[in-house]
Amino acid sequence: MSEFNNPKLEILISTDQLKERVREMGAQITRDYAGRNPELICVLKGAMVFMSDLVRAIDLPLSMDFIAVSSYGKGMNTSGEVKIVKDLDEPLEGRNIILVEDILDTGLTLNYLSNNFRSRGASSIAIATLLNKPDRRKVDVEVSYQGFEIPDKFVVGYGLDFAERYRNLPFIAVVKDPV
Ligand code: 5GP
Repeated sequence: MSEFNNPKLEILISTDQLKERVREMGAQITRDYAGRNPELICVLKGAMVFMSDLVRAIDLPLSMDFIAVSSYGKGMNTSGEVKIVKDLDEPLEGRNIILVEDILDTGLTLNYLSNNFRSRGASSIAIATLLNKPDRRKVDVEVSYQGFEIPDKFVVGYGLDFAERYRNLPFIAVVKDPV
């Protein structure tokens, strides 16, 4: 049975749209960071597909690091405290960080991570998110690079999962009746 043609999936952003937009974001970062050798930090697992395409659209010397977080308990509380499950390998002191995320929803994760990175001495922190769901925001987060604004729907594909499935879809889709 084909996963990519699964009739339960309704495509929201096509493969071609993703390619074009990620290429534009990379070109913009290339212009903005000329001479600054940014460090791109990928928030695992969801941002890994976006990260791997984005870095190949940035024509600059750069480095990469990876962090994995989980929220405490099921529903994230308003303090937005997240647990770092896998920490960075390299120190952040003096680095120009681009925090790469799959989707900005309530904003609690990115708010926590950017404060955490600032406290570790990063020189600058910018956020690059593929998707943005502004309807659900609980805390203000300043976004420097955004792929697409989407409505308040649960999406999968291009790194995003539903119970670990669908991360390999080459497009972004909404799952019709997920159970
Ligand atoms: P925030 O802290 O902004 O609420 O949460 C962001 C995280 O929630 C994302 O990194 C992602 O893991 C998860 N998330 C939020 N909305 C969606 C969605 O529509 N689909 C999927 N698969 N994950 C989502």
